[in-house]
Amino acid sequence: MPTFVNPEKCDGCKGGEKTACMYICPNDLMILDADAMKAYNQEPSACWECYSCVKICPQGAIEARPYADFVPLGGTTIPMRSAEDIMWTVKFRNGSVKRFKFPIRTTAEGSIKPFEGKPEPTDLENELLFTETELANPIATTMTESPIEDAGKTKEWKQEDYGTLV
Ligand code: SF4
Ligand code: SF4
Repeated sequence: MPTFVNPEKCDGCKGGEKTACMYICPNDLMILDADAMKAYNQEPSACWECYSCVKICPQGAIEARPYADFVPLGGTTIPMRSAEDIMWTVKFRNGSVKRFKFPIRTTAEGSIKPFEGKPEPTDLENELLFTETELANPIATTMTESPIEDAGKTKEWKQEDYGTLV
């Protein structure tokens, strides 16, 4: 289920040019009401439920309303991130609250070099992956061998080999 902004907590990322939730949403769903300085999910039905906005919001203002098998309808899940872990507060509709803390990676933001050690891009028309030296040919698959009974032998397949269709 999609995410919703709690307007009481949202501060519009303090008037930045692009809010954190707008920046992170892969589907460009978050939008800022510049007059109210509150963000909102403009198309909840198109939400991918990736929860990126939930995790990045510095105010903890975005709530996920997840599936009933996880949190019954009417419940909420709210994450709170720290440098080393993420604490999920799960509030059930009967008022009970559970918290789960998980470690997160400690790699500093922006420090990952995804292309380090990889070759420079060359011919974009080349079908080979950078790990390949030649194209792999698919193995010929013909019905000339029985995979079980006649392993290693050739066999001419007949209609009765396929059994009776019911
Ligand atoms: S990231 Fe959070 S505080 Fe910033 S605009 Fe979005 S909902 Fe509001
Ligand atoms: S959960 Fe993901 S797709 Fe949905 S609004 Fe947040 S960032 Fe966008």
